[in-house]
This record gives sequence, structure tokens and C-alpha cells, in this order.
Amino acid sequence: MDLSTLQIPVQKTTDSQLANVDFSNLPFGKVNTDHMFICTFKDGSWQDPKVVPYQAISLDPSAKVFHYGQTIFEGMKAYKDSKGGVWLFRPEENQKRLNISAKRLAIPEVPKDIFMEGLKTLVETDHEWIPRTEGSSLYIRPFIFASGRGFHASPADEYTFIIACSPSGSYFAGKVGVRIEETYSRAANGGVGYAKAGGNYAGQFYPTQLAVADGYQQVIWTDDNAHEYIEEAGAMNIFVRIGDTLLTSPTSDRILDGVTRKSILKLAEAENIPTEVRKISVQELLEAQKNGALKEMFGSGTAAVISPISSFGYKGQRYELPQLEESYAAHFKKRITDIQYNRAEDPFDWRYPVK
Ligand SMILES: *Cc1c(COP(=O)(O)O)cnc(C)c1O
Repeated sequence: MDLSTLQIPVQKTTDSQLANVDFSNLPFGKVNTDHMFICTFKDGSWQDPKVVPYQAISLDPSAKVFHYGQTIFEGMKAYKDSKGGVWLFRPEENQKRLNISAKRLAIPEVPKDIFMEGLKTLVETDHEWIPRTEGSSLYIRPFIFASGRGFHASPADEYTFIIACSPSGSYFAGKVGVRIEETYSRAANGGVGYAKAGGNYAGQFYPTQLAVADGYQQVIWTDDNAHEYIEEAGAMNIFVRIGDTLLTSPTSDRILDGVTRKSILKLAEAENIPTEVRKISVQELLEAQKNGALKEMFGSGTAAVISPISSFGYKGQRYELPQLEESYAAHFKKRITDIQYNRAEDPFDWRYPVK
């Protein structure tokens, strides 16, 4: 199908909740917009894509998503500029990644035009929900789950694809202390760590609760083999600055290929900031901390953009990171958000107009 020919029908709500929302005090991801996009896979194809009023859905208790966790998601945002223009940021990367996740979980891939036209139609329909205050945006959550029924442990024959939106303030507030994980693993070689599969996150909750009980906010995931190398920061990619070099782990089976991560790498390259994409050992981190070369650590992801790390814990000891006047974290956060909110030039064509 040609991208421009697919028309997504819109059924408008008669009961808008827009006037009931306090936009000056938005929690992350708790308020939903008036509409959602929905599309179903059955009889071997994705059918009936449409935008409808946001509503509860009814599922059979034996829907396979409940039993076998066959579900994947994406996370992206829409931004409103000072003139009312509405933008997405590299949405085709999310479209591709959703299908990479789909393939790994034996979920039928979604045609590009259904994803892109569904997304644009929904964001346009709910554009009044995009907050304008600094740091706020419309969080967009595309997800697919096995709605087909049966207790047999095999892929379902029906799936539901929904895109829901949530006007949101910033994701993390305050300082983030992280604990380097020595026992649990987020992902393994040959596993599903590179997919945004629901179970990956369920598996993170308990180790994160243990870290929180110890006074940290997040876990730094290490390799599943010997917990020697740092891999991700919670549900974010991880960056480390040693001296003036910016380091991040290479993507793999175990590490999610983040859009924010690759945008930071591209900007760093264009600005001649020395960058190394390679394995980072916990030992290297400890040594750099000891000799004063460890200047920064931060996580990167759509929700928070960049989340600076103020301290890390390892083997029962907490190590503080310096407070920098000119951090890479603040620099790249500004560079990326200036592009996202149409406040700066967009040298790599990352902005995608909605209206
Ligand atoms: C979504 C996600 C990221 C960040 O990806 P972005 O595309 O930058 O939002 C990093 N790690 C994990 C585990 C994730 O789920």
C-alpha cells in the first residue's frame, strides 16, 4: 500500500476529558488522551485500522498474552513548538524496532503505512493534549499483544495493536543513585533483551525493588555471564564519561538499540567529542572513580531523554560522582530537546511534522 493512500477513519469522542486535566501538574504516564488507535490481526492480516474514543477493552481469559507474555511495545513522544507546530522525533526508527521486537516474539509484523498513518492520525486528533510547558510532551505508547485465545503454548492467531497517548511532565525528578547489579540479569545471549518485550520489564521490577530498599533508584544491568561489564541503566541505555571521552556499550542481543542513544552518538561525532562504543568493565569504572577520571554517568531514553546519575553502588559501597558545571548530560539534553521542540536546526532530518 502507498503511504499516502491509507485513510484511517476517526470516531470522535462525545465526552472529552481535556478540560478536566491539570496540565501544570502532570504525573508521568497516568493521564490518557481522548482517543486511541486500534487495529486487529486476524485471518492472516492486519485489518480495520481506526482511531476511536479511549476505552477499556474486553479480552477472553485464555488470551495468550496473559499466559505466555506475547506482548511488545514502543515508546515515543510528540512535541508542540511555540507556534503550535506538532512534531515527532525519528518515528520511523520506532516503527522498525516494533517489527524487530514483533519478529522475535513471533508476532506478525505491522505494515509501515498502518503504523505511520495510525500514529499521525491519532496525534493530530489529540493534538490539543500536547502540553506546551518546558520539558512536557505527549508520551506515545504503541503496543501489540496476543488477543487470540487458547492454553496451548504456541503463538496466538489473533493480535491487537493499540496506540495510546499520555500528556506527561518529565520522567525522573531529582538525583538518581544506581546500584551495579551483581546477582540478577536483565537479558542473556540469544534471549529477548534487544526487544521491547513486556516480560523484560516485569523481570526487572524485583531486583529494582531490592536496590530501592538499599537506597538507590535504579539498577545498572551487567552482563549475565560474570556481571563484569555494565550494559544498561534501568530501562535506559548507559553512557559514561571518562576524562573527556564519552563511552557507551555496543548494542547486542542483550542491549536495546535506543533511538536516544544513537542520536547522542551522532551528535557527539558531529561535534568531534571523542566517543568509544565498547564494553565498559566495572573494574574500569572503579579505577576511573578512584583516580578522578570518572566525570559523569547518565542514562538515555525517550521518556527522560537524559537522566544524570549522581552516585553508584557496588559491593555494598557507594561512590559519588562529581557535580559538573558543564556536563555532557546537560549539553546533549539541550541539543536533543532543542531539535525535538523545533528550537534549533535539524541537521540530520530527525524532526517529523504531524501538523
Ligand atoms: C526503550 C529502552 C531504551 C531507550 O530507547 P529509546 O529509543 O532511546 O527510548 C533503552 N533500554 C531499554 C531496556 C529500553 O526498553
